[in-house]
Amino acid sequence: MRHYGYRDLAVLVSERGHYSLGKAADVLGIGRDQLISIPADSQNRICIDALEDTLAQLNHDNIKPVAIVGVAGTTETGSIDPLNALADIAEREGIHFHVDAAWGGATLMSNNQRHKLAGIERADSVTIDAHKQLYVPMGAGMVLFKDPSVVASIEHHAEYILRKGAKDLGSHTLEGSRSGMAMLVFACMNIISRRGYELLIDQSIDKAASFATMINQHPDFELVSDPELCLLTYRFVPARVQAALAMASEEQVDLIHSLLNDLTKFVQKRQRESGQTFVYTYKVNAGAVAASYHHGV
Ligand SMILES: *Cc1c(COP(=O)(O)O)cnc(C)c1O
Repeated sequence: MRHYGYRDLAVLVSERGHYSLGKAADVLGIGRDQLISIPADSQNRICIDALEDTLAQLNHDNIKPVAIVGVAGTTETGSIDPLNALADIAEREGIHFHVDAAWGGATLMSNNQRHKLAGIERADSVTIDAHKQLYVPMGAGMVLFKDPSVVASIEHHAEYILRKGAKDLGSHTLEGSRSGMAMLVFACMNIISRRGYELLIDQSIDKAASFATMINQHPDFELVSDPELCLLTYRFVPARVQAALAMASEEQVDLIHSLLNDLTKFVQKRQRESGQTFVYTYKVNAGAVAASYHHGV
């Protein structure tokens, strides 16, 4: 980048971005500090104003943003960044637009739900994990490029394997010898098929919505995040504790939240041990622990 007159480069993603982006920064050797995290709003979506401010600052500091990453379904709450707004900015600034749809990408298989990912079609590249909501065994991560020829930016050949002209994508990926996971993806696409996936996606989103309604109606539970997809977070807060919280001092509120955090962890552990459900704990911004419900995983 110095050759082009820049001081450095940066990759931008919301603070809810997946930890694997940090790994990618390590592998690329750009340094963790160059993966810049942008604040998210109360709905866990990237703040566009904050992104614009950061871009202005980077421009001022002569640092070139090489990629903006939109998250289409955060792992904890299934929140989707405003993809069209991100695409507009990336287009205006000439920045590569990547969408991390590892979790939420399968939603595209549903004609009824696809609109939630509007703008994803404008991405230069998209990650989708088939081992999440496409129900393929681990690990079947995929990255799709709008312009397939860009994979040629990285290309390695050897005499004994991956010879020039070989169709093996190992010449473009970090792994050379790879398992044949593509066969399982291919099989599932044919056996479950679009209509099957649509059914699975629609039903899981419906179930999460019903579960959210049940939580909202129950006096002893609190919905922490509304489900956009099939994920939601909630916690057990007995009605009497809710009443106590409403009239507690700041110090008492902190104490009650800390006790509730321990209680949430305890409940989740017992639930996991009983083996009937898949709920894990997630620390939301303020440090409160919520239980995260993943339908179908
Ligand atoms: C699961 C996930 C990834 C990738 O994680 P893997 O463990 O490699 O599958 C990336 N981003 C998001 C949002 C995810 O949910």
